[in-house]
Amino acid sequence: MSKEIDKQIRSLAGSLDADYYGVADLTPARDFIHAQGGDRAARYPRGVVLGIRLQDSVVDLLPEKDNEGAILYRHTTYDVVNIALDQAALRIANVLQREGYGAFPVPASKRTSNEHICGIFSQKLAAHMAGLGWIGKSCLLVTPDHGPRVRWVTVLTDAPLQPTGSPMESRCGECTACVDICPVHAFTGKPFSPGEPREARFDAAACDRYFKEREKNDGVATCGLCVWVCPHGRKKGKRAEK
Ligand code: SF4
Ligand code: SF4
Repeated sequence: MSKEIDKQIRSLAGSLDADYYGVADLTPARDFIHAQGGDRAARYPRGVVLGIRLQDSVVDLLPEKDNEGAILYRHTTYDVVNIALDQAALRIANVLQREGYGAFPVPASKRTSNEHICGIFSQKLAAHMAGLGWIGKSCLLVTPDHGPRVRWVTVLTDAPLQPTGSPMESRCGECTACVDICPVHAFTGKPFSPGEPREARFDAAACDRYFKEREKNDGVATCGLCVWVCPHGRKKGKRAEK
């Protein structure tokens, strides 16, 4: 039965045109998940993870810091990609539910706590635990082939799916590009360590304030320089330019 549902979900994910697919065993991170999302999130031992690559042409507008580029980036990246991810997650959750399993589609990007500036569950954690990338010094999930230029969604489930991998070791090395480019110095430059709180590496409130300031001054809340600058994402863009 486990193999059948595995095959069914993998095949559905393939038809949904996602660039990344994985299954995470979330049990080693249960305490962390519970601290963030309580029982609602922590009751599920697995996560089905889907990722959609961002368009390089749109991410590469970011360093120009102009309003038009910011509007285009925000529309494509936040509005269009997040909706595509949410719809894909719902399709997967529907199949799992029909097959009699518990399934909870975590919204691709929905803040549920203003105090902690986070959602009910960390998409990056699931992608990391599914073996799809590592958590960089930018606190973003960095994939070997497309860096952080990928957005993620997770369907939490109790279906007995086979995990696709284990957490990937960091490949940030000596790089500090994201730390250096951040206009509000939100990153400390410390590498990710599973037991350590996000605050040890990232001042989410500083980033949030910067977004609000941009919205107030320019009418559009966007930055994303830490996404743009990562060399693991930019190398593909360079190849495409040849
Ligand atoms: S989005 Fe901009 S302000 Fe926020 S952490 Fe990244 S570089 Fe810094
Ligand atoms: S920019 Fe460099 S330090 Fe930052 S996440 Fe990417 S590889 Fe790691």
